[in-house]
Amino acid sequence: MQQIRDLVGDMYMGSGTGCWAWKYESNGSFNVASIKKLLGSVDRVIPERSFEWNNWVPKKVAIVAWRAEMERLPTKCALIRRNITIHDNLCVLCGDFAETSEHIFVTCQFAQMVWQNIADWCNIPPIIAFGVNDLLDLHGAASRSRKKRKALHAVILVSIWSLWKLRNEAVFRQVNPSTTKVLDEIKAVAYLWVKNRSKMVALTWENWCRFEIGG
Ligand SMILES: [Zn+2]
Repeated sequence: MQQIRDLVGDMYMGSGTGCWAWKYESNGSFNVASIKKLLGSVDRVIPERSFEWNNWVPKKVAIVAWRAEMERLPTKCALIRRNITIHDNLCVLCGDFAETSEHIFVTCQFAQMVWQNIADWCNIPPIIAFGVNDLLDLHGAASRSRKKRKALHAVILVSIWSLWKLRNEAVFRQVNPSTTKVLDEIKAVAYLWVKNRSKMVALTWENWCRFEIGG
C-alpha cells in the first residue's frame, strides 16, 4: 500500500478525460523532429563519411555502389566468410584473383579498362583508385559545373552497377564478359536515366557522347 502511495503521490488527477502526452515537448505533442533531436543528442558513432545518393539514377543502381563500398555484396569472398561452400574464390572476369568488391570494381584488369575508357569519355584525368570510396569521391573535384559533377557521379554509379550485373551474368549464365559491351551499356543506360531524371530536355545523344553537359 505504501509503495502504491509513493508511486501515485505526485500525481495530479484532474476531472477531465485522460490523454497521452510527449514529455520532451513543452506542449506535449509528438512529432518526428522532436524524437530526431532527442536521438541526435545521445552518444552515438557518426560514420566517417556518408554515402552520396544521386536522384539521376534509380535507387537500385546506387544501392549496389552503397553495398560495394561497405563490402556487403555477396561476392565469393563474402560468401566464404559466411561459411557458404563454393567451388573457388576466383574472380570470374579475370580468373586470377580472389573476388572481393574491391577487386571487381577497382583492381581487376577488367574494371581498370572500364575506368580508363570512362575517363577518356568524360574528359577527366586517368582514374587512380585504391578503393570503391575513391571511385565514389572522384566527381567532387572533377569539374566546376555542378551538373557535370552530378552527371559524372551518375556515370560512376551506373558503371559499378553494370560491372556487378556483368559479373552476375558471367557467374550464373556463363556469359563471356566484354568491355565493349559493358561500356556501350553504361553510356546508353546512363544517358536515358540522366536525360529523363535531370529534366535536361536539351541533352542530345551527341552532347552526351562528348560529355558536354550544360550548366
Ligand atoms: Zn578480376
